Amino acid sequence: MKHSVVVVAFLLSGFIEARFSVPVGAEQLGGISKGLGIAKKANDVRELRMSDAEEQQLGANVSERIRTRYGVVQDANVHRYVALVGTALATNSTRPTLPWTFIVLDTDGVNAFAAPGGYVHITRGALALIKSEAELAGVLGHEIIHVTEKHTVRAIQKNQAVQMGAAETLSGSAALMDRVVTAVYDNIVERGFGRAEENESDELGITLANKTGYAPNGLNGFLVTLKERNKDATEKRGLFASHPEMQERLDRITKLIASKKLAATATLEARYTRNVTYKPVPVTAIATVEAGAAGLTGADAKAEEKKAEEKKAEEPKKGRFGLSKMLPTGGGEKKQAQVTASGGARGVDPEKDSKGGSNPKVVPVKLVAADLTAFKKEGGLP
Ligand SMILES: [Zn+2]
Repeated sequence: MKHSVVVVAFLLSGFIEARFSVPVGAEQLGGISKGLGIAKKANDVRELRMSDAEEQQLGANVSERIRTRYGVVQDANVHRYVALVGTALATNSTRPTLPWTFIVLDTDGVNAFAAPGGYVHITRGALALIKSEAELAGVLGHEIIHVTEKHTVRAIQKNQAVQMGAAETLSGSAALMDRVVTAVYDNIVERGFGRAEENESDELGITLANKTGYAPNGLNGFLVTLKERNKDATEKRGLFASHPEMQERLDRITKLIASKKLAATATLEARYTRNVTYKPVPVTAIATVEAGAAGLTGADAKAEEKKAEEKKAEEPKKGRFGLSKMLPTGGGEKKQAQVTASGGARGVDPEKDSKGGSNPKVVPVKLVAADLTAFKKEGGLP
């Protein structure tokens, strides 16, 4: 097994410049804050500002935590395939020059996570449930939009916990970076995005998939499978746990496809099943770890869980994790899930709290433009 740490690098002209010559003044997000009607803070503290370079660093750090939690499937072939689909989509997105990185997490739980700066994670369990390349494109398209629309960046800008001193920068303060990474990980993995962000990712994600040549109902195909998988659950869990009610969501997407006249047709089931051969594990059979205590079992996990509960109780006073306030849907459901989860042990969401692999190393995939061209041609994508 190779353990080198490189990332999928699709080399577009200008990629190096885009990544490294970004001015660190970080003023560009000020405009977004104003647009969202966020009041400017007085002198000593200000909202978090972030240059593109800092966004990349943040994403790399958050991805490392996600990979450490779930492990990475050390399979070059499956990573190459997912990277080809993801890159085909990303190059059609509004941020084609990000160093997009697609990572397959080593867990049976069904999930996908987007971290800032172009890091898209999908679990082995999700790939096992997906039936075609169009469905994969639907899921990856949704995650890509979370990145291009900077949903995470905007969420943490509203978080009181990560206000920064006037002289502080994200790249210049390890303590601030650590605080932000923790808040972002919590936002992405534990809480999820709010309803507005999820709807936007659905709408722009299926549009992106369609533009890339994939049948736009791929996302719905996957969601129907997910709905069937969770039909006995008493609460929403796992992937898209913070999403609107599933049927409402499916109807909404179907209407969008019609009203926007999205008519691409590629589904590519055969190519998908040739490249992905994982078998789904039923929710009730997924090995889990206690929430907040990944990798621990038995008494240790119980002790950790207790510690985590105590810590949670203190947090509002310290104002460290304020994201739930601006994420009413995700936050509320999380709370509910803690008292009513039924798939595994009490308080455990098998999709999210699934046991992961032990190897966090990124599997390197090197793609050049000709690879992508050949991949699209083979699949009949424009
Ligand atoms: Zn989402």
